[in-house]
Amino acid sequence: MADLFERFAQVQEQRELLFGDGGPDPFQVRMDAVISQTEAIIDGRATILAGTNNYLGLTFAPEALKAAHEALEAEGTGTTGSRVANGTYAGHSDLEAALCKFLNKKHAIVFSTGYLANLSILSTLVGPEDYILMDADCHASIYDGVRMGQAQIIRFKHNDAADLDKRLARLANKPGNKLVVIEGIYSMLGDRAPLKEIVEVKKKHDAYLLSDEAHSLGVLGRYGRGLPEADGVEDDVDFVVGTFSKSVGTVGGFCVSDHDQFDLMRLVCRPYIFTASLPPSVVASAKVSLDLIHNGGALRTRLMRNAQTLHRGLSALGLEIGGEVSPVIAVVAPDQETGVAFWRGLLEVGVYVNLALPPATPHNFTLLRCSLCASHTREQIDNIVTAFSQVASRLDLVPASQTPRRAVAS
Ligand code: PMP
Repeated sequence: MADLFERFAQVQEQRELLFGDGGPDPFQVRMDAVISQTEAIIDGRATILAGTNNYLGLTFAPEALKAAHEALEAEGTGTTGSRVANGTYAGHSDLEAALCKFLNKKHAIVFSTGYLANLSILSTLVGPEDYILMDADCHASIYDGVRMGQAQIIRFKHNDAADLDKRLARLANKPGNKLVVIEGIYSMLGDRAPLKEIVEVKKKHDAYLLSDEAHSLGVLGRYGRGLPEADGVEDDVDFVVGTFSKSVGTVGGFCVSDHDQFDLMRLVCRPYIFTASLPPSVVASAKVSLDLIHNGGALRTRLMRNAQTLHRGLSALGLEIGGEVSPVIAVVAPDQETGVAFWRGLLEVGVYVNLALPPATPHNFTLLRCSLCASHTREQIDNIVTAFSQVASRLDLVPASQTPRRAVAS
């Protein structure tokens, strides 16, 4: 009999090539202690966290902690089943009502993660006669969701409304529905969708539009409602998907819509029906955090200031980064081996970022992906830049820095 695991030989080989020496490895990083939103002890060392997606730093917001504690005491550690089997707790429907209010939509459904929200909606909303037109750089959960469904999948060039227009035009005589799927801020490179242009195109072709606001919720828009708010097109986005695992500071996902029959999704989404619902403490803290996001203008200002400082600092080093100032800033490494050495070097000097390797990245880039937090101090941002400078010059990626300092003052 063939070895069941033989088909993973290439994965194993690749892993051994990159991490076989036993050095630090992203799959095995352990936070021995979490000190705050922006610092943890990793391998005995105080480390700046620069890859958490905790954009507003709400994981330790006293109001959210209090609500979570109260719900935990009152209702226990978990629901131990799905809402269909075990019933909806009042907290779940309160959270859905809070999402409707916050995002000005008629209907909201909460899922157990953002990943499951995308699986749920994308696998059911459109059928075999329909078409999904998705941006090529969409997140894995979108790829997986559309694969789970039966609609025909068409990818358009990343952030290219003209390409979308062309592809929709080709479908003009086809009877099926067309659903365009994009993200507000793209998770790997931090660039924004040209939403206004995409809205124009979707209207022209009578298509529906779904935007995954995972990285833009809380971050963009005066009240943190994401890119649709920032671009003034909220009424033109038919479905907004989001997660509680980034700005909201906990775990969970959702989809909101104004479509009258949206609630039918509860009856057909298998990842809604067949998985346990969120625990009361998570639901309670998410609800409180939505208020904090709505009133979080000062946090957004700090976040964007931090993004600007880091973007400026990394650009000045001559590293290859995207042009857009965004809370997600990714440095492109020349190859995977250098990327691993870079990532390890940063960890050694006390800075944790995300190492993103192909094929999970746009253009098959190897990325040192940073995400910023409103709670990062100026000193922490300066230390992140210093760490990049030190490691990049050690790897001969930029000219040697003049005044190397320790990255973390501890
Ligand atoms: N969509 C996007 C764009 C994401 O980046 C992510 C997570 N990184 C998800 C969905 C999934 O969210 P969750 O972590 O809540 O499953």
